[in-house]
Amino acid sequence: MRPIVIAANWKMHTTPADAGDLAALIASRTDVPEVVRVICPPFVALSAVRDALLGSGVAVGAQNVHHERTGAFTGEVSAPMLVGLAEWVLIGHSERRRDAGETDTQVNAKLERAWESGLRPVLCVGEQLGERESGRAEGVVRSQVLGALQGHALALRSAGLVVAYEPVWAIGTGRTARGSDAAAMADVIRETAANAGWAADAADLPVLYGGSVTSASIGEFLAEAAIDGALVGGASLKPDEMAGIVARAAVTARARREAGE
Ligand code: PEP
Repeated sequence: MRPIVIAANWKMHTTPADAGDLAALIASRTDVPEVVRVICPPFVALSAVRDALLGSGVAVGAQNVHHERTGAFTGEVSAPMLVGLAEWVLIGHSERRRDAGETDTQVNAKLERAWESGLRPVLCVGEQLGERESGRAEGVVRSQVLGALQGHALALRSAGLVVAYEPVWAIGTGRTARGSDAAAMADVIRETAANAGWAADAADLPVLYGGSVTSASIGEFLAEAAIDGALVGGASLKPDEMAGIVARAAVTARARREAGE
């Protein structure tokens, strides 16, 4: 049975001085054991958030990791540096593909670095608006998933990979994909993982939706059997929103457990 995961991406918000209090408040408002909860603060707030979340059941994630283990990479953070600070890591977020020019080759190497250091990766994929409008969304996502996964088939089996389908046009825009479109893309992602050599386990791959998710819209995505949770940006900084999102996720987690899905 696949887990239901709600992951918070705080992006470049909060400081080490206030992140711990916000994390603790969100943890207390979302205290539901059926839902895997992850908070990804900025690097500099990882330690404060880790300390604040001790014993809460909420895991800490980083928002990025470098594709090399060590070296002359000023300002970068490697996977071994994250050990003890984070258990999860976002990889290939579209804001990094856009702003830092991250390529599928680098994303592929970042996955390897995460696995080597025992970090649990959330691989982010998704098409641009023009690509969807011209009917190329599926091809773009297939190629991102293949690029990220090729060569990793053996590692994947035990690596606890999660994929987040995040259409770029839905991130931070207030516009969401349709639940049915997100579910269709989740099927494409699992099929592509199977083609990348992960045939036996592709059905177990959790796929999240991300893009302007709120407590009002989460239900549409969790109503789809192919969707296993959400990667939440803007709304994840609001405790009321997180409480609503996780409460809705708990309903799905219980229903799927009872149905044995
Ligand atoms: C994200 O940062 O991954 C994201 C989905 O952001 P938002 O929820 O703000 O669209």
